[in-house]
Amino acid sequence: MDVTVTGGAGFIGANLCRELVGRPDVGRVIAFDDLSTGRADNLAGIDGVELVEGDICDPRSIGAAVAGAGSIVHLAARPSVPRSLQDPMASHHANVTGTLTVLEAARGAHAHLVVASSSSVYGANPRLPKVESLLPQPRSPYAASKLATEGYALAYRESFDVRSLVFRFFNVYGPLQPAGHAYAAVVPAFVDAALRGLPVPVHGDGLQTRDFTYVGTVARVLADAALRRVDHPEPVNLAFGSRVSLLDLIAELEQVLGSTLEVEHQPTRSGDVRDSQADNGLLLRLFPNVDAVPLREGLAATVAWFRES
Ligand code: NAD
Repeated sequence: MDVTVTGGAGFIGANLCRELVGRPDVGRVIAFDDLSTGRADNLAGIDGVELVEGDICDPRSIGAAVAGAGSIVHLAARPSVPRSLQDPMASHHANVTGTLTVLEAARGAHAHLVVASSSSVYGANPRLPKVESLLPQPRSPYAASKLATEGYALAYRESFDVRSLVFRFFNVYGPLQPAGHAYAAVVPAFVDAALRGLPVPVHGDGLQTRDFTYVGTVARVLADAALRRVDHPEPVNLAFGSRVSLLDLIAELEQVLGSTLEVEHQPTRSGDVRDSQADNGLLLRLFPNVDAVPLREGLAATVAWFRES
């Protein structure tokens, strides 16, 4: 089966492309990306992936990139809460108008679609664990744009029979996730600081919790979803129910590095949620064979990648 990955030169997208080319039942793999946050280098050394540069908001280029695809994995987006606070319209354009354009292309190509949403849609809803039936209460323009993303995908499924599966990713981490910019995610920010011998920057008290998911695990589930053309009428959490505080994460990193890390507390960030932990009952029903990489192993692989790059 041919697969098109939007955002294929990004962190999760490039890890997925690597997973796809290793599968025997995969034909052509197209990574469609405007290289706004992704990098062509992320695909270096992965044989069999064709990088097509283009904008998901452009119907002609995305239409051409999905022609003949059996499945599209739609990851392209303007990620991050702080970015959306700085420019909500830009997040809306990429994440909502972009998704609608990809859905029209999927409809035209009769392709199945896997769509990336985010645990941020649960937002201000305090209940734990986050089960998919909870009321979404977005706390940031990014979260609202992801709720719209999944709403459109589910609406196209009902209205136009576009088979799809919407995943809510939690905190995905691992190789290829960049550090060193203002919007860096927590794991690369911590690993980068630790390897440079700098204090680890923690927003707030560090007791906020996250459900960290290794990117290799996410890539395997996404590849299975695309190749089996899994279709479901509701969003599905893609995480494994761990509840790790940022201070716990630092302790794990200390174990991996074999050294003690200094912590620097910074002000809390607007739009961030306090606690996040997935209920993954639905995920395990749809993907009973999924096997999650444990946090310490995933952190060790991330540290190894940072050391090599
Ligand atoms: P990323 O920034 O590395 O990947 C996004 C990719 O989309 C980039 O390569 C970027 O260049 C591309 N892109 C952006 N706008 C585009 C456009 N208009 N046209 C074409 N390409 C465009 O981020 P990521 O962490 O790999 O995220 C992938 C998806 O997963 C996103 O939809 C993100 O919202 C979602 N997500 C990620 C996490 C996480 O923890 N990393 C958590 C929840 C949801």
